[in-house]
Amino acid sequence: MASFRGIPIRLHFSLVLVLPLLAFAYGGVVRQAVRAAGAPSGTGMGASLLWGLGVAVGLFLSVLIHEMAHVLYALRTGGKVRSITLMIVGGVSEVTELPRRSRDEALMALVGPLTSVGLGALLLLTVWLLHETLAFSPRFALSYLAGLNFFLGAFNLVPAFPMDGGRILRGVLTGRMGLVRATRVASRVGKLFAGLFFVAGLLTFNPFLAFIAFLVFTGAEGESRQVQVRTVLEKLQVEQVMSPRFHGVELDTSLEEALGDLRRAKLLALPATDADRPVGWVVLADLMRVPGPERSVRTVREQVRPAVTVSPGDDAWSALRKLVETQPPLLLVLEQGRLVGTVDGNDLNAAVALHLASAEDREGRWPRWRQERPA
Ligand SMILES: [Zn+2]
Repeated sequence: MASFRGIPIRLHFSLVLVLPLLAFAYGGVVRQAVRAAGAPSGTGMGASLLWGLGVAVGLFLSVLIHEMAHVLYALRTGGKVRSITLMIVGGVSEVTELPRRSRDEALMALVGPLTSVGLGALLLLTVWLLHETLAFSPRFALSYLAGLNFFLGAFNLVPAFPMDGGRILRGVLTGRMGLVRATRVASRVGKLFAGLFFVAGLLTFNPFLAFIAFLVFTGAEGESRQVQVRTVLEKLQVEQVMSPRFHGVELDTSLEEALGDLRRAKLLALPATDADRPVGWVVLADLMRVPGPERSVRTVREQVRPAVTVSPGDDAWSALRKLVETQPPLLLVLEQGRLVGTVDGNDLNAAVALHLASAEDREGRWPRWRQERPA
C-alpha cells in the first residue's frame, strides 16, 4: 500500500472485508447518539454512515500510528523491521531483529500503547477546542475515536504475548531471571490470559474475543520456542551442527548424475565444485525444470548458482538467520576456501532437539527423584 522509511506497509485482505462492516456498525452508533442527544440529524442515515466510515478509517490510521511508534523506536535502538501489516485485529510489525538490550525491548513495546493513549488525548483536546464550531456528529465521531484509542492502548498493555504488555513483562523480568526464564514466565502468563479471554468470549458469545485468545495462545507458544532455539544456537558453532561434506558435484557432471547425487544425499541442493574448489551450488528445482531427455547431455556448469556461505567458527544462530533471511536450501561451510560441510534446517532442528533433550536430562525429574530417595 505504502512504505515508511523503506519498510513496506501492507493491508491484510481481511481488512477489506471488515471495513464496510465496521463503517456500518459505527454508523449505527453515531445515529443512536444523534437520536439520544436530540441533535439535528443532518441528512439522516447517509450522513451517519459516512461518519461511521470516518471512525473505521480513523481506527485503522490509529493502529498504523501505534505500529509506527514501535517501528521508529526499534530502528533507533538498532532493531530491524521487515514489514508492517494492518490486519483485522490490529497491526503487526514484523521485527526481524529485536533491540539487544531487554530494557530497549520493553520500551519499544511501551511506546505503542503510550502513543495510542496520547493520540486519544489529542483527539479529545481537539474536540474540546473546537466545541463551538463542530456539529454534533463530527464531535461524537472524534470522541468515539479517542475512546477507541484509549481502549487500544489499555488492551495492548495486558501482559500477554504477543501483545505489547507481554513484551514489557518479559523485558522487566529478563534483568532478574535471564531471557529464557523470563520468556517462560511471560509466556505462561500469556496463556493464562488466553484462557481467560476464551472463557469470557464463550460466556459473552463474543467470537472476536475467542479469536484473540487463540492468537495470544499461539503467540505465547511461538515466542517461548523462538527464545529456546536462539539460546541453544547462540552457544553452538557451525562446525558442531553442520553435516560434514568435503566433495560437491563437479561442474562437468551431467544433470542426470547430479540428480542422482541429490537423491542419495536426500538434499534439495548440493555444493558445486570445480576440482574440489567450491564455486556455488546446484538446486534440485533447477534440475527438475530441465526436460528429462536433455539432462544426460547438459552439465552442472550451466545450472550453478552463487551459494550462501558460513565459516565453521560462526555461531549457529547467525547461520539460522542467514537461512531465514536469504531463504537458500542450505548453507555451504567453507574453511579457507575449502568445502568442509553444509548446514540446512534439518541440521539446526536436530541440534536444538538434541541439546534441549540433554538439558532436560540434566535438570529433569528422574535424577532429582532419585536424589530425593534415602540412600
Ligand atoms: Zn503495539
